[in-house]
Amino acid sequence: SIVVTGATGHLGRLVVEQLLEKVPADQVTAVVRTPEKAADLAERGVRIAVADYNAPESYAGLFAAGDKVLLVSGNEFDKGRVQQHKVVIDAAKAAGVALLAYTSAPGSLTAALADDHRGTEEVLLASGLPYTLLRNGWYHENYTESLAPVLEHGAVVHAAGAGRLSSASRADYAAAAVAVLTGEGHENRTYELGGDEAWGFAEYAAELSRQTGREIANRQVSVAEYQGVLTGAGVPEPVAAIIAAVDASIEKGELVVDSGDLSRLTGRPTTPLADAIAAGLKG
Ligand code: NDP
Repeated sequence: SIVVTGATGHLGRLVVEQLLEKVPADQVTAVVRTPEKAADLAERGVRIAVADYNAPESYAGLFAAGDKVLLVSGNEFDKGRVQQHKVVIDAAKAAGVALLAYTSAPGSLTAALADDHRGTEEVLLASGLPYTLLRNGWYHENYTESLAPVLEHGAVVHAAGAGRLSSASRADYAAAAVAVLTGEGHENRTYELGGDEAWGFAEYAAELSRQTGREIANRQVSVAEYQGVLTGAGVPEPVAAIIAAVDASIEKGELVVDSGDLSRLTGRPTTPLADAIAAGLKG
């Protein structure tokens, strides 16, 4: 079976949907915390397993020898994500799965946000399991899914200076995961995944202006100021610090990924940022 954790999240759902275009539904298992959220997948014949990264016992017997597993990194920053991911890796090891692919972060990223990913990679490599590291770069959607405040203030606010990044759409990263899960020869490989074109915030603001027909400013602030903007918008303090620090990494070029791995794995160019902006503006 091909097993996908986090299957009711944004990325996991796209992976399952793209898998269904390639393999029969009864060969796909979606691991979810809340089965109600996966009712549509169950209806399409996908096997549903219920488990939580915080409950090791929920993974007992969940995997079978020969499974190919996608471990989608969790989003509970305060719950010890390395330990959470280790729960899945240990269960996969006990079952003797054929492959464990993990959604990591670019090797060049030094921001604190990457620490859990580096820690998980270490656990996975130490497990001796056949692995694939899908070092996902940034999602377009990190920017284009939350355009309301940008349009309201007429400005893109960031602390990345003139830094550039090579983001791609979640669907692109999902397609890379599907290529690994359904293809051959991806054991013990590390892929640095990012969009074909790097962009900077001045260009982003210009493209937003073009598509909206309104003047959207490129407002560059310091990391401390940006953190304040985020907490002001209701983001909890520790999370705001983590997010703001990523902009410092972007300024240093740490989210530029020029390996070409993403378009090579998917066999097509990555989604242009302008397309994601258009989708975001449609809402
Ligand atoms: P989502 O927040 O949409 O999905 C996170 C998934 O993790 C959800 O399915 C969630 O389950 C699951 N999850 C969280 N905690 C647990 C747990 N304790 N037990 C079981 N499942 C759990 O994120 P995306 O799908 O957009 O992205 C996937 C991951 O990539 C994120 O979790 C994060 O680690 C990372 N990320 C990457 C970004 C990038 O730009 N590259 C940006 C943001 C995040 P449920 O559906 O039940 O809530």
